[in-house]
Amino acid sequence: MRAVVVGAGIVGASAAFHLARRGVEVDLVDSHAPGRATLAGAGIVCPWLSQSRDPRYETLAFAAVRYYPELVARLTAAGETGVDCAVVGGLVVAPARDQLQAVARRLQGYLDRGVTEVGQVRLLDAGGPKALFPHLDSTLAGLYLSGAIRVSGESLRVAMLNAAVKAGARQRFGTATLERNGSTAGVGVRVAGELLRADVVVVAAGAWSAELCRPLDVHLEVEPQRGQILHLRVEETSTATWPLIVPVLSEYYLLGFDAGRVVMGATRESGSGFDFRITAGGVAEVLQEGLRIAPGLKRATLTEIRVGFRPMTRDGLPLLGRPRSMPGLVIATGLGRYGLTVGPYVGLLAAQLATGETPQLDVACFDPERRVAAC
Ligand SMILES: Cc1cc2nc3c(=O)[nH]c(=O)nc-3n(C[C@H](O)[C@H](O)[C@H](O)COP(=O)(O)OP(=O)(O)OC[C@H]3O[C@@H](n4cnc5c(N)ncnc54)[C@H](O)[C@@H]3O)c2cc1C
Repeated sequence: MRAVVVGAGIVGASAAFHLARRGVEVDLVDSHAPGRATLAGAGIVCPWLSQSRDPRYETLAFAAVRYYPELVARLTAAGETGVDCAVVGGLVVAPARDQLQAVARRLQGYLDRGVTEVGQVRLLDAGGPKALFPHLDSTLAGLYLSGAIRVSGESLRVAMLNAAVKAGARQRFGTATLERNGSTAGVGVRVAGELLRADVVVVAAGAWSAELCRPLDVHLEVEPQRGQILHLRVEETSTATWPLIVPVLSEYYLLGFDAGRVVMGATRESGSGFDFRITAGGVAEVLQEGLRIAPGLKRATLTEIRVGFRPMTRDGLPLLGRPRSMPGLVIATGLGRYGLTVGPYVGLLAAQLATGETPQLDVACFDPERRVAAC
């Protein structure tokens, strides 16, 4: 069997890895478009505090988190030991402890349902969060959960790509276009003047997927949302063990990586199109909100600003499945704000769909051609 995967973000890299492991002959095409979301993504994997409470999203995201350790173990077994992924715990912060009660009840509800990945949950008095994340405002109270995961999406993407190549996948660079194979329902992929024929084409082109599928009359409701995110450097070297500061009561967050790197995010700029710019307003917004909860970071060095386009759908659910009119395609995109959380697992499900296996999770509710009424 031959497959072409278009897009080598976290979803495409995962699809290519899982297809190659199944013995499928895989070509993976990527255009290196500026604004790949996986490179900009912060790295919070904590779906129990996600702003989406949709049970269809929760079922997917909880399964995705359960799959993380298995995936990392598979990559390690394939010699890919560079994945930066750790269970560091998470903190929700608020000016007063009683503002955290509703979040605490939500987490207890998951624990009561057997979602043990949440880990231990405890409320912290004012000052407690600062003891765990030194730059925070000392008056903040907090809710700590031990199960939250921090991942470098880029390190995971690269590990999956490398493992896919070791298993026989070929990487191609260039902007792909899709075309029908004559009058059949098959799809060809043209890249750098060459037509690649395949039994199945996996569309994992993130926010660019709608544009990619248009020539086939497959209409996807996915749009780019720009996110600007800041990287800072602090003097401490223990940053990799700091908990995530998870956005629940605010939209903004902080997380530490190794060697003094602290990530502060992020803007959510709907209607941005593919405008790949760092804006004064975007940087000011993130700094203002980030420094409000972590005034200690005023002295940090601003080392990098990344820009990425989240692939957003109107209902916040992925587009995952085979379009009825074009069974030679598998669509795997629309992961919006949670693509580092669910992307590796969605790549597995896409590979299962592509090979004709029954996917591990029922994906009927993620019909890629569904239409959602505008709010
Ligand atoms: C600022 C920011 C912070 C985020 N933080 C988090 C977080 O903390 N936790 C979380 O779970 N998620 C987070 N996300 C969301 C997550 O990063 C995305 O949902 C996810 O990375 C999307 O992955 P993808 O593979 O679908 O798309 P992308 O990573 O965008 O990859 C798509 C790829 O397709 C390629 N491509 C496009 N068109 C073509 C073509 N015609 N031919 C060839 N190649 C093509 C592009 O070059 C690109 O490499 C964040 C996103 C942003 C922007």
